[in-house]
Amino acid sequence: MTFKQKHMIKKLFLSHGTKRRSGRKLDKVKFIVAHDTGNSGSGARANVMYYERTANEQSVSAHIFVDGFEIVECIPAFENPEVAWHVLFNVDEDNKRFGDDANTSAIGVELCFGDPVNTREAYSKYVWTLAYLCHQYGLNPHLHIVGHFELDPKRKTDPVNSLKLINKTMDDLLDDVAFEMELCLYGDDPQMMEVLKRLDILEKKVSQPVPDWAKSAVDAALKKGLFTAIESGSHDFFRLLVAL
Ligand SMILES: [Zn+2]
Repeated sequence: MTFKQKHMIKKLFLSHGTKRRSGRKLDKVKFIVAHDTGNSGSGARANVMYYERTANEQSVSAHIFVDGFEIVECIPAFENPEVAWHVLFNVDEDNKRFGDDANTSAIGVELCFGDPVNTREAYSKYVWTLAYLCHQYGLNPHLHIVGHFELDPKRKTDPVNSLKLINKTMDDLLDDVAFEMELCLYGDDPQMMEVLKRLDILEKKVSQPVPDWAKSAVDAALKKGLFTAIESGSHDFFRLLVAL
């Protein structure tokens, strides 16, 4: 299945063997961390040039920067992905949720925002980039994309603050990425798009958050390792779980 190449990804790799780009390979891409630069008005290329100028002064890095003009990959993310340092090692939410540190098992994508960056245009390229990464690594946006603020809530608010500028939430972002995946895979097939739309409506009808009466059964199932995550399901699914 080919994924629609709506945009070009500009490769401007940082110098190899520096603090920001050690060259160490990522073992397996297990999830994606959604960031924003936290620096209103700075563009993708400017951020990457700054990284390059200071490549041996600091180790903080991310794989991809996206603004209204372009998508710039500065640490290999799509082929032979390498490690970037975009989440503190000593936060443990990534370990709890994904069984690993973000730095050694996740791709970090930065959204550029704020005038003169066209935030809406940047958002649309950001959504496509995240969708393409999910496709590339067989990930589900709703399960495998996490906001930096979720991993490091004491220090970080990204990308929620920049999303607010265009009236989007983290949930909107995940929905938009999931829809973008469908569009880029099946957009030329109206029949398939119709089927997916109906499936989506159906899923929303039957899916509900974990009800109180099923919470202990859900906890037990997670502890037994029957599932890796249960965030929603149908009434019948929860009844079955309680019966078990
Ligand atoms: Zn961040």
